[in-house]
Amino acid sequence: MLIFKRVKDLQEYVSTQKSTGKTVGFAPTMGALHKGHLSLIEEAKNRNDISVCSIFVNPTQFNEEGDLKKYPRTPEKDIEMLTTAGNDVLFMPTVTEVYPPNIQIKNDFEFGQLDKVMEGAFRPGHFEGMAQVVNRLLEIVQPTSLYMGQKDFQQLTIVRDMLRQTNSDVELVMCSIIREEDGLAMSSRNVRLTSENRKLAVIINETLREAKEKMDTASPAMIKEAALEKLNSVPNFKAEYFDIVDGVTLSALDRFEDTTFAVACVAVWSGDVRLIDNIILKN
Ligand code: AMP
Repeated sequence: MLIFKRVKDLQEYVSTQKSTGKTVGFAPTMGALHKGHLSLIEEAKNRNDISVCSIFVNPTQFNEEGDLKKYPRTPEKDIEMLTTAGNDVLFMPTVTEVYPPNIQIKNDFEFGQLDKVMEGAFRPGHFEGMAQVVNRLLEIVQPTSLYMGQKDFQQLTIVRDMLRQTNSDVELVMCSIIREEDGLAMSSRNVRLTSENRKLAVIINETLREAKEKMDTASPAMIKEAALEKLNSVPNFKAEYFDIVDGVTLSALDRFEDTTFAVACVAVWSGDVRLIDNIILKN
């Protein structure tokens, strides 16, 4: 696997490859890799001549300094995992490579309500920073297609809108959520759960699956109420939201009949670890 730390070196390599007609699949990550990340790489590899993974813990998308500091960093293990997975190129830039002082980085996207609801309501500035870095990384890498996880459904929806706003021809591919054996969505944050909270965390996925089961007999409001009640009754849990939304506009749904694409999204604090998950109810 080739590892680049400098923008210039990566660009040189990618442009040479693309000039010979090769396609490039790109999966941006913040490292502390797990099988969920590797599934993006696998998809990128399967559909392209070259896979590029980036590891960059983007400071502009953390709304809490503490969260940025606590974010797990395991570069050696990440390199080993990517090598074993057969990834072609790893881009590991420093903050000044991504945000050089002499370059004005675009940060004036307008997402309407997409970045105001759910995660946007609880993590002010998060999506602004996320869109800024994804746009910047796309500018640097110039991939053919982009691989992102359904795990961060709202993020992916916003990136789709960002690609529209920039008239980008990059194809966005949504990859399924990879879960632990007990159903907990894989996340770099899971390692910070206490062993007791780790066991209880399975209830998040359980609640989402129950929501799907109830769809034919209950309204979104009824499902939401039952889900929040269940989640908040779990020791050490504090649910921030459980929303049933249209998968394109992210508007809360009054009735399932009003859309062809419905998604239930949830965020829960388990102790001091914030976990998110979602399920596609209808598509
Ligand atoms: P992160 O490193 O958490 O910023 O995630 C990088 C990419 O991996 C994002 O597109 C995530 O949606 C995706 N991802 C994270 N966890 C999972 C998972 N459990 N299954 C599939 N994709 C995931």
